[in-house]
Amino acid sequence: MTAPLRSGESTVVPVALNERAYDIVIGRGLLASLGARIKALRAGARVALVTDESVARHHLAAAEAALKSAGIEAARITVPDGEGSKSYGTFEKVCEAIVAARIERGDLVVALGGGVIGDLAGFAAASVRRGLDYVQVPTTLLAQVDSSVGGKNLVGAFHQPVMVIADTALLDTLPKRQFRAGYAEVAKYGLLGDAAFFAWLEKNWQDVFNGGPAREHAIAVCCRAKAGIVARDERETGERALLNLGHTFGHALEAGCGFSDRLLHGEAVALGMVLAFDFSARKRLIAAAEAERARAHLAAVGLPTHIKDIAGGVPGVDELMDLIAQDKKVKRGKLTFILVRGIGQAFIANDVDAAEVRAFLAEQFK
Ligand code: MG
Repeated sequence: MTAPLRSGESTVVPVALNERAYDIVIGRGLLASLGARIKALRAGARVALVTDESVARHHLAAAEAALKSAGIEAARITVPDGEGSKSYGTFEKVCEAIVAARIERGDLVVALGGGVIGDLAGFAAASVRRGLDYVQVPTTLLAQVDSSVGGKNLVGAFHQPVMVIADTALLDTLPKRQFRAGYAEVAKYGLLGDAAFFAWLEKNWQDVFNGGPAREHAIAVCCRAKAGIVARDERETGERALLNLGHTFGHALEAGCGFSDRLLHGEAVALGMVLAFDFSARKRLIAAAEAERARAHLAAVGLPTHIKDIAGGVPGVDELMDLIAQDKKVKRGKLTFILVRGIGQAFIANDVDAAEVRAFLAEQFK
């Protein structure tokens, strides 16, 4: 299990990609140091603070106070909640607001929010004045472990933040269900490549949920794992595909539920990982007991682990197979899946028989 650097009240995970290096600083209560950290990074910079309405209700006042205490002038840009803000209309408004606030090159955009805000603010920062730097302050567990590492592919261009501040206390205000969904991606890092971390999660998950020191540690392990995979993948090892563990089955289920509240992304990933483990057991790649251990942990934290757990049900096998085929190109009846040879031993299988997947899915509905 990787041991991230720890200094004082925070853990620092360095990310070095595309010749641009930045730090992810992880710790409880870090939002209060936002202004001081930005001032240390770029003295004299002004800030456009991009957030959404629900994050604003909980955390905007604290963020603005932190900036003000460091003497930093900030323009506030608030967009509506939810996936609906992932639109060109909202993107255009954010860009216009950044320009109207007279944010110049050398100034900073700060993204205070979850994945949608991180993408939106990052994309806007990349687009205005031929590219502004941005700082990410992720406010969901999913964004802290996932979207803050590795940059966004924006029409072929990667735009990395110059700093990520992951305040683990911000997750205290998340609805439990949303926190649990994010936890599926935390468990994913153990299941795909770090058996010791998975065993540690089995013992310490309650403290991760309760916001104790284990939360900071778990987030740091995930960020470091992803940073390592993404950096190695620049040498085209294909390792990055392992991050899709659970995502092929998961996306099909998510799409089958119409990307609605019936099944959150992380819930779909939890189900997808269980299916990937069970399918691997069916192919005798791992022992059934090992697959059961993966399922048992996800069930213990309250994540769905059977297709029958999905409220309102899901479409049948035919539609799920169509959705899988849309997601992954089928080549001569063969599909690519991330399968496992054990907990922490995921691999890319690109010769999976579509008929075998269909038979396996049919068993899930019995
Ligand atoms: Mg995901």
